[in-house]
Amino acid sequence: MKTASFLAVAFLAPALASAQTGDIGAALLADKAVAGALERLKATEPELIAEQIRVCEIPAPPFAEEARGLEFKNIFTKLGLRNVRIDAVGNVLGERPGKGPKPHLVFAAHLDTVFPEGTNVKVTKDGPWLKGPGIGDDCRGLAVMIGVIQAMNDAKLVTEGPITFVANVGEEGLGDLRGTKALFNDTLKGKIDRFVSVDGTGLGMTHTGVGSFRYRLVYKGPGGHSYGAFGRVNPIHALGRAIAAVSEFQVAKEPKTTFNVGRIGGGTSVNSIPFEAWAEVDMRSADKASLDALHAKFLAAADEAAAAENRRWNNNGTITVEKQSVGIRPPGHTPFNDPIIIAATSVTKALGFPIEWSAGSTDSNVPMSLGIPAITIDGGGEGKDAHALTEAFDTTDSWKGTQRALLIALALSR
Ligand SMILES: [Zn+2]
Repeated sequence: MKTASFLAVAFLAPALASAQTGDIGAALLADKAVAGALERLKATEPELIAEQIRVCEIPAPPFAEEARGLEFKNIFTKLGLRNVRIDAVGNVLGERPGKGPKPHLVFAAHLDTVFPEGTNVKVTKDGPWLKGPGIGDDCRGLAVMIGVIQAMNDAKLVTEGPITFVANVGEEGLGDLRGTKALFNDTLKGKIDRFVSVDGTGLGMTHTGVGSFRYRLVYKGPGGHSYGAFGRVNPIHALGRAIAAVSEFQVAKEPKTTFNVGRIGGGTSVNSIPFEAWAEVDMRSADKASLDALHAKFLAAADEAAAAENRRWNNNGTITVEKQSVGIRPPGHTPFNDPIIIAATSVTKALGFPIEWSAGSTDSNVPMSLGIPAITIDGGGEGKDAHALTEAFDTTDSWKGTQRALLIALALSR
């Protein structure tokens, strides 16, 4: 057992030296132990898909990932990972030691779905297609993570540095990346050198993290009769002023910077001056300076709308505004000359897959914003209708995603 492990390491040694030149993909493919692991992954993909279905039928609504998390604690334990544990926010961690302490790679996939408690999460099959909420996003990523650990074990691959595998909480929506925020700011603070998240389907990769600020704006006033109390300040009018101001913001096309008022509400009847009005606002950019500038303009516009409404009626009543933050995703970027991008590109090229780097909002935003090299990779296959009840996953050649993920994990843990 040990002998095979060290043989594998000896074979892999030249690959380490060539990481900087981008030859690591070819070097890994030339390694017999690795080539054997890739073949086995292709052969055992049907078993992995069965696991994908099994874990996906354990519900994992936002802020209620415990049941699926506990199953991952079992899975990590059965796969022989060390120090398997659940942290304070619900992330499930398990370690696979390397020859030494560095580099420490964290390899993750998210447990949570967008689907509320009570959603039917039964998975059905239709030819190569699997249908079920979350089957691609991110049961695929979770399955790929299992496949990578299994393949490393079967081929007795020993990596240079340790890998911590993480099934994390809170990636979706109002989860607000709380799993990875806790991982980097608390659970493994200062201990992570590289981060890879497997999220969703296809063969693309994400090297830019689109950041966002999300707010619920609430304007409040005394309210009153529309006729009898006419001349009093009006929260809906104030909200209208705020929306008008936001709608005139000028933003950069490159890097793409966006804003949206997505929901509004308030008031009680047509003949009442309302006492409350609210709106939900989303702002995004991959560029921190652009996003911060937009954010500052938005906060000022929200205040100015209240002040303008108060001035308009000579302070007959007072409009107040609450700017409730409902989401902050930090923007970030892993540059193309970073060794992890070079390695992931090299591996993808060696397997003959197209090289597709793009921007997205994923768990990698957190490490990217901290200057820690991070990428998010697709898990293979093809998906459709992510975040909808009709979500589906095409398993045709999905083993390609598992193979690529294994090679990336190997390339980044040396
Ligand atoms: Zn996802």
